[in-house]
Amino acid sequence: MIRFENVDKWFGPMQALAGVSGEVRRGEVKVLVGPSGSGKSTLIRTVTRLEAIQGGRVTVDGQDIAGRGLDINALRQRVGFVFQAYNLFPHLTAAGNITLGLTKLRNMAKPEARERALAELARVGLADKADEMPGKLSGGQRQRVAIARALAMDPEAMLFDEPTSALDPEMVGEVLAAMKQLAAAGMTMICVTHEMGFAREVADEIWFMEQGRVAERGAPADLIDSPSHPRLKSFLSRRV
Ligand code: ATP
Ligand code: MG
Repeated sequence: MIRFENVDKWFGPMQALAGVSGEVRRGEVKVLVGPSGSGKSTLIRTVTRLEAIQGGRVTVDGQDIAGRGLDINALRQRVGFVFQAYNLFPHLTAAGNITLGLTKLRNMAKPEARERALAELARVGLADKADEMPGKLSGGQRQRVAIARALAMDPEAMLFDEPTSALDPEMVGEVLAAMKQLAAAGMTMICVTHEMGFAREVADEIWFMEQGRVAERGAPADLIDSPSHPRLKSFLSRRV
């Protein structure tokens, strides 16, 4: 469903992605790991064109995301994105954050949007927080609102960029649980995360990135228990 073909990305003279290829099929969960600066965020950001690429191709359902006819706003509804830092609108309630996109982008009537928002909040265990302002929510709750907001658009795939790395440890579990549930429901996902327990449990495949390339990829059991790349070995020895 999401395909990277020889993707090159440069930031000025710095090559952030160097010939990355790979495919995420419908219903699959890929987990991206690797050292800081290896290109993980850049790679997933190319999918919804948050970063333009200079070489190769990214396709979603066979459609070139850089193609002329592509409706970028439609693409960003089809592929949800959850960032490291909660990017909720601080002046809107949890439900308000979710209904905004539904009324503005989907032309949904307000009562219907509200109903939808409540259903999505319930799905991430926040039915009772609908009318709370983000400032009154914990970090983990805010991240779950961000997930609910993306899910309200009925995405075909979800991208996560270290959604738990800014959280206090006691809140990591609740966000990972929401992601696990989503994976179990068959969502196509690419997750950048250092949570190796999550990766082992949920990933169909792990991609280890190094200097803008996928240096090694494989099933969690193979890759975590018997890494062949020396840099992956040292990376894992610090994590697992
Ligand atoms: P981290 O684990 O720290 O989040 P990452 O694997 O996500 O790292 P990227 O953010 O994708 O790494 O960055 C890849 C490379 O591109 C890095 O060298 C980074 O400095 C560079 N880079 C990323 N964004 C920009 C930007 N907007 N302008 C210039 N260089 C950038
Ligand atoms: Mg990153």
